[in-house]
Amino acid sequence: MHLLNETHDPALRSWLASANQPGSDFPIQNLPFAVFRRRDSVEAFRGGVAIGDQIVDLAALAGAGILVAEAELAVHAGAQSRLNALMALGPRYWSALRRALSHGLRVGAAEQAQLQSCLVAQAEVEYAVAAQIGDYTDFYTSVHHASNIGKLFRPDNPLLPNYKWVPIGYHGRASSIGISGESFHRPQGQILAAGASVPSLEPSKRLDIELELGVFIGPGNAKGRAIPIADAESHVFGLCLLNDWSARDLQAWEYQPLGPFLAKNFATTISPWVVTLEALAPYRLPFSRPAEDPQPLPYLDSDANRQHGVFDIQLEVALQTPQMRAAQAGFTPICKTSYRHAYWTLAQMVTHHAVNGCNLQPGDLLGTGTLSGPTLDQAGALIELTAGGKNPLQLPNGEQRVFLADGDAVALRGWCEKPGAARLGFGECLATVLPAA
Ligand code: CA
Repeated sequence: MHLLNETHDPALRSWLASANQPGSDFPIQNLPFAVFRRRDSVEAFRGGVAIGDQIVDLAALAGAGILVAEAELAVHAGAQSRLNALMALGPRYWSALRRALSHGLRVGAAEQAQLQSCLVAQAEVEYAVAAQIGDYTDFYTSVHHASNIGKLFRPDNPLLPNYKWVPIGYHGRASSIGISGESFHRPQGQILAAGASVPSLEPSKRLDIELELGVFIGPGNAKGRAIPIADAESHVFGLCLLNDWSARDLQAWEYQPLGPFLAKNFATTISPWVVTLEALAPYRLPFSRPAEDPQPLPYLDSDANRQHGVFDIQLEVALQTPQMRAAQAGFTPICKTSYRHAYWTLAQMVTHHAVNGCNLQPGDLLGTGTLSGPTLDQAGALIELTAGGKNPLQLPNGEQRVFLADGDAVALRGWCEKPGAARLGFGECLATVLPAA
C-alpha cells in the first residue's frame, strides 16, 4: 500500500504546459508507463512515461546519465523493448524513478533542459503491449456482472454458490492480446442456433465487449510459495484498460463444463498506458461486504484490505458505428461505472491466484472481469445493457445496436478525480471490428 507523498501534491505543476491543462489524463501526478516508437519507423520500441501530450523516452533518459541509484537502475530497465525487467524490480525502484521524474518535470527543475531533449510527442508514436505477457488470467470480480450473466445463461440458478467464497477466474490466451488502435476479424465458431439440434460453423452474430481493467504483475513468486495478502500489492506494477471481446453465441454452446474457450481467445485489447498503484494512492477506498454475505476467508482478509483495498476508478465505454464515422460524429457513451463496485479486490485476486503455489511472473496480466456496477446503465457488456438482446440500445443518430456490427469501433476510458487530488487518466483503449475473415 503506497502512502501519499510529495509526488501526489495536487499543487505540483510541470514546466510542460500541456501537463497542466485541466482534464489532462497525464498531469505530473500520474506518470504512467508504456512502450512506444515513432510511428512507421524502424526504431526499437522502448519504455516511456506520459507527461501532458508528450512522452519521456526512457532510452534517451538512460543515455543522458542524469539519474542515480535505484532510479538509474529503473530507467535502464525501462529503456528495453518491453517492460518486464522494470516490472521485475519492484516498488522501491518504480518509486525512485517516479520521484526522479516528478522532480525533473516540475516547474523550476534544474534538469529541465536534459528532460526536454528526451520528449517525443504522443501524436507521433505507435505503441506496443507493455510487456511480454507470459500468462493471462481473467477473473470475474463483479457480482453484478456475474448475476446478470448468470440470469441469462441459467435463469433458474443465476449466481452459483461458490461465487461469494472464491474469486472465480480462468486461464486466458496471451498471444491474441493486442494494443489499442488494433482491428480484428469477427470470430467464427460453433453455434447452436435456437431450436436447432446440430451446431454449425459460422461467424458470431453476438459479438460483445467486456469493460475490464488489466493488472500487470511486477515481481513474481517462487513456485510453491503463496503470496500473503499483506504483500499482494507489492507484486502489482500497475493497471491498464482491457476489453475482453466475447462471442456470446460461441460461449453459450461451449462454456460447460470447462468455461470460456474460443468465445474469448480470438482478441483482447489493452490500453498502452499502465498507471502505477502509487499514482492511484489518492483514490483508495475501504472494502466491505454486505452483512448478509460471507466474510472473506482469513487468507483473503486483512486490515489494510478492509481500510483501503478498493480503487475508485471511473470507467466509460463509448461506441462509434460506421454511419457515425461517415457523418464525422464522435463516440457516444453507452456505459459509465467505477471499479469501486467490484466484489473482490486487487489484493484478493493476486493472493488467491498464488495460494495453491502457482507462480506469477513479471509481465503476467490479470483481468478483473467485466466491471458492471449495480444498475443496468453501469453494465460493462452489451449482453447486460440489452438484457440478452431483448432491449436494443438506441443511439443518438437513430441507429440501434444489440451486439456489435462490422465496422463498429469501441473505446474504453478510465480516470480518477475528486476534490483535493489531481485528476489523472488511463488514456484510451480503442479497437474496431472487421468482417469475418
Ligand atoms: Ca472477461
